[in-house]
Amino acid sequence: MINIYFQLAGLVLTMMVAVLFASKTRLLFDTDMAFAHLMISILTVTVLNIIAVYGMELYVNGKLAEAITLWGGKIYMLFAVLVGYFSLRYTLIVVHNPNEELPDKTLYLKALVPLVLCALAAFFSDVSVKEKGSDGILYFSGSFVYISYLTLIVYLLLCAVVIFRHRSKMERHYFISATAFSVIIFGSIIITFFNPYYKILTFTMALAILFMYLEMENPDDYVDCVSGALNEYTFQKWGEKLLRDRNEMGFFVISLSNADDIKKKMEASEYEFLLRDMKQQLVKLHFGKVFRLDSGEFVCTAKPSEERVIVLGSIMEVVQNLSEKYSGFSAREVRYGAIPSLLEYDDISDFFQDLRFFLRHLETMSKDTWHALDEETLHIKREEDFIVLSLKQAILNDEIMVYYQPIYSTAKQKYTTAEALIRIRDLNGQFMSPERFIPIAEQQGYILTLGHAVFENVCRFIRENNLEEKGFDYIEINISTVQCMQKGLAGELVSMMKKYSISPGFINLEITETTAVKSENTLLKNMQRLIELGVSFSLDDYGSGYSNLDYVIRMPFYLVKLDKLLVWSSFEQEKTRVLLETSVEMFQQMHLKIVAEGVETKEQALYMAGLGVDYLQGYYFSKPVSEAEFLSLVYTNPRKTLA
Ligand code: C2E
Ligand code: CA
Ligand code: CA
Repeated sequence: MINIYFQLAGLVLTMMVAVLFASKTRLLFDTDMAFAHLMISILTVTVLNIIAVYGMELYVNGKLAEAITLWGGKIYMLFAVLVGYFSLRYTLIVVHNPNEELPDKTLYLKALVPLVLCALAAFFSDVSVKEKGSDGILYFSGSFVYISYLTLIVYLLLCAVVIFRHRSKMERHYFISATAFSVIIFGSIIITFFNPYYKILTFTMALAILFMYLEMENPDDYVDCVSGALNEYTFQKWGEKLLRDRNEMGFFVISLSNADDIKKKMEASEYEFLLRDMKQQLVKLHFGKVFRLDSGEFVCTAKPSEERVIVLGSIMEVVQNLSEKYSGFSAREVRYGAIPSLLEYDDISDFFQDLRFFLRHLETMSKDTWHALDEETLHIKREEDFIVLSLKQAILNDEIMVYYQPIYSTAKQKYTTAEALIRIRDLNGQFMSPERFIPIAEQQGYILTLGHAVFENVCRFIRENNLEEKGFDYIEINISTVQCMQKGLAGELVSMMKKYSISPGFINLEITETTAVKSENTLLKNMQRLIELGVSFSLDDYGSGYSNLDYVIRMPFYLVKLDKLLVWSSFEQEKTRVLLETSVEMFQQMHLKIVAEGVETKEQALYMAGLGVDYLQGYYFSKPVSEAEFLSLVYTNPRKTLA
């Protein structure tokens, strides 16, 4: 009686895995190749098993020669051993560290030894066809059956050894599925050993490969579920492979800058359609792979032979078409980058650091053209790295300093306030420009520490020198956007003022227009609490950025600071002069105090005073100075007439 249900079930399962495996976007990673080999060997052994079962039936009925039947059986069993060999290969590849070279070829050759021995044994050992008495099930018996089982067990044990030795380095799901794979097959050999007529070996192999596929070769792990592109994890693996193979392939980057803003403008589902559409168009246009990184950028592979300008041109065209199709999405919000090749990197993690910098850097670059991750960009990155190191060092050594720039009151004709300005030396001992390091500190998460240190510094300075009694009205302190987004900002500042017994009325906080726009809700709450206590607020850099005056009306400012560029260009341009003069008039009518910044000449000072500006700040009066210099200025604070 022929019984091949298990074999057929096994065949269906393995074919299912094969179809799934082939139908999804595949990357020809080494692990994928090894998995494919293993899968094909299981498929083959299942087919051979079915043929062998029919062979036995024909042989018993006298329709097939004995030699063919028995050799058919031996070949089937040898292929079962081959599955063991491919399992070992797969295990070796799965456990190896991606940054190291792949196991060299001789290791694979050595791994072949048991298989070769088993094949030789096929010539010297025998196989016979037996029948299970009661229900006439045919099966192979004889010494070669035992030899092949034994060899297969040897392979499974070798797998177990490899897994055990690398268990700490292995990713968990690889560990589980590789172990389960060996255990399932091992179990079925034991069962078949005692009940040879069960013939479940190939079926359990199919089960094992299905399990393995679901657990570790499941392509969903590789794909970003929103866009359908390959995900960041895959990009990393792909990068590792390129580097290992010394492949010259490069990448194109398509960055939807401030994706969050785009998302807000579109419906969630429309945004997903856009991403999906973009992925599909890029795949169509391009011949390589398309990835989407966790930070939202698309990355396409670029062959070294491709003309960058031409490919980028067609990518831009795709984006242009998409922006016509999706109303909330504008091509103006997209930035393009080119990464020539990874070959210059020894270590893939260095590349990813540079890449992350490049993506951030792209945001600050012009939108009309593409930019390359080239020497020039990397130079900027090294500069940034140096700044970050210097910041870390200064924080660690408690070397954050504050300079003070006195501010002249046109009514009292002397200094009545001052602006506190942060000062940090770099690793070479030079002062760094806050304009340069503040944005970096904001991006890299150091700004809260800096802000805290500046505030504490100022409070200590006021207390130690009793500035409150020396003719000064308040000190102005700059607060960054990131600080204003902190719910706890007000609480933090209040407890600091308490610690040094500073009356809140002696503190004025400067906030830029950008901050007012970016973090309005949290900012307003912080402002309300602080204003109730007596802290006042200035709108800094008026006239330098946003031109929406809405928030000047809505937010409780005490003072407006005219940006130095506005002050300077009002001496050059008639239109700016008009803007400045009307602004001053407007703020006066709103009962806001006014500071003019960047007053460098007597002419500027006289002009601003003539307009009725309350305070003047600039190099004409004094540069920002150290605590000691500021103190000597405070003690004398001579009346300084402008006339
Ligand atoms: P800002 O708030 O506009 O500060 C005024 C800047 O103008 C200071 O530059 C000051 O030295 C400079 N300045 C003042 N008068 C003149 C002048 O007559 N001519 C010229 N050319 N420049 C003048 P600084 O100290 O380099 O600070 C740059 C920026 O860094 C500040 O601009 C502020 O936005 C930021 N910053 C400084 N200290 C802090 C701080 O403690 N926290 C935060 N968040 N930002 C700070
Ligand atoms: Ca300021
Ligand atoms: Ca300013």
